[in-house]
Amino acid sequence: MAKSAQRPLRVAIVGSGPSAMYAAEALFKADGLDVRVDVFDRLPTPYGLVRGGVAPDHQKIKNVVRVYEKVESDPRYRFFGNVTLGRDVSVADLRAHYDQIVYAVGNESDRKMGIPGEDLDGVHSATDFVGWYNGHPDYRDLEFKLATAQRVAIVGNGNVAVDVARILVRQPDELAPTDIADYALSALRASSVKDVVMLGRRGPAQAAFSPKELQELADLDAVSVVVDPAEIELDELSAEWLESQPRSSKRNVEILKDLAEVAPTAGARTIHCRFLVSPVEFAGGSGIERVRIEHGELVADDRGTPRPKGTGKFEDLDVDLVFKAVGYRGVAIDGVPFDEGWGVIPNDEGRVLERRDGDVVPNEYVVGWAKRGPTGLIGTNSPDAKDTVARMVEDVTATRVWDDLPGEDAITDLLTRRGVEFVNLEDWRRLDAFEQEQGAQRGKIRAKLTSVEEMLKVVRELRAAVS
Ligand code: NAP
Repeated sequence: MAKSAQRPLRVAIVGSGPSAMYAAEALFKADGLDVRVDVFDRLPTPYGLVRGGVAPDHQKIKNVVRVYEKVESDPRYRFFGNVTLGRDVSVADLRAHYDQIVYAVGNESDRKMGIPGEDLDGVHSATDFVGWYNGHPDYRDLEFKLATAQRVAIVGNGNVAVDVARILVRQPDELAPTDIADYALSALRASSVKDVVMLGRRGPAQAAFSPKELQELADLDAVSVVVDPAEIELDELSAEWLESQPRSSKRNVEILKDLAEVAPTAGARTIHCRFLVSPVEFAGGSGIERVRIEHGELVADDRGTPRPKGTGKFEDLDVDLVFKAVGYRGVAIDGVPFDEGWGVIPNDEGRVLERRDGDVVPNEYVVGWAKRGPTGLIGTNSPDAKDTVARMVEDVTATRVWDDLPGEDAITDLLTRRGVEFVNLEDWRRLDAFEQEQGAQRGKIRAKLTSVEEMLKVVRELRAAVS
């Protein structure tokens, strides 16, 4: 193939969540880089977990889309929604149309616990519940027996566990004006959940949630947060270890201590924060009835980090529903290297590797959770994406010339030839305005469309209306 430096660098970003948008932003801001960016998403709607993951009662967090809208308004940006890598386009297609590919595909699955009963009816992953209440098309048809459940166990002590606990106990009227899916609001209105038990396998000092999120639970109307003082007493190892931890971990411990002193309000829905308890089995007949938990203690690993160790003391907890909030995990994509052990795309500072410690796959990069695993807040993805983009720019600068590619419209032609009904930026903007208008008419921030068919139908109608 001929080589040329006479045209802009062409980059495909797969995924349109925060890490994708920060990567596009960093590319646009790169010094002296003449670049065009095409962003692909398998859904007709952009923004990944900001739309499908951030809780509906956390609208302030969603304001980050203003930053993404600014990126989208750059004339060098194009959006291709409803295009699935591996179904509508292959990695080979992207290689044939772009100089560089960035995988910003996030972590689309959940970690498994590997204990008996994980597949029992009524044992769900929190990621499913989060996708469901957020109206994500993949999860809209799921059912959770909220109408009959009284007591729910949530496994894990991270911010997802806290989100799930809060949505389960919050007054539905407070959720009504948000962008929560209509079916989820109806199900939560009919919910009989009284008790939520959050199960942390380590102690209060090692809790992964943020103090702000914990405090928000404590501040909920008509909700009591119950903490057993004995379970939050710090052992010697934790007390010493906590000294070297960020302020947020210390703050969690302080808030929990305060909560342990408050008597529960009679009649209120209750969240029990349990510590040093690890589920070892989910049990029941046709559906979940009990979680067997083993009490634990903390022992230092080789790096001095407190890790949980079973004490052989067990307890059975009667529950009607379980949500496992033990972390997200990546999903392998055809043609893209994937590390099964780590659940991420193997990479060296964002450069994709054939395998862990393997050779670099030229011109392919990764950002966000697909790069580093499911850690950090939305903002963490900005420096992360900048780092990868710095590697991309280094590689381009090293090459300076690159293969000739078909014209910029070739990808559009390819998709059209294949009958892929892709959604462009204008379509998305109209759909976005439509959802907001529909919501405003019903006193909601937004009325989300929750099926791809529905979205495409509205996109077609709105397109017809302006042509
Ligand atoms: P996370 O923060 O990694 O928390 C996972 C929790 O699951 C930890 O408490 C972990 O305990 C526990 N766990 C893991 N394996 C377990 C097992 N086999 N048995 C029992 N417990 C187990 O993950 P996340 O809650 O899914 O959140 C993902 C990321 O998104 C985090 O960075 C989070 O802060 C962020 N997020 C932020 C917000 C927000 O800002 N509002 C909301 C949602 C998510 P160990 O610590 O002992 O491993």
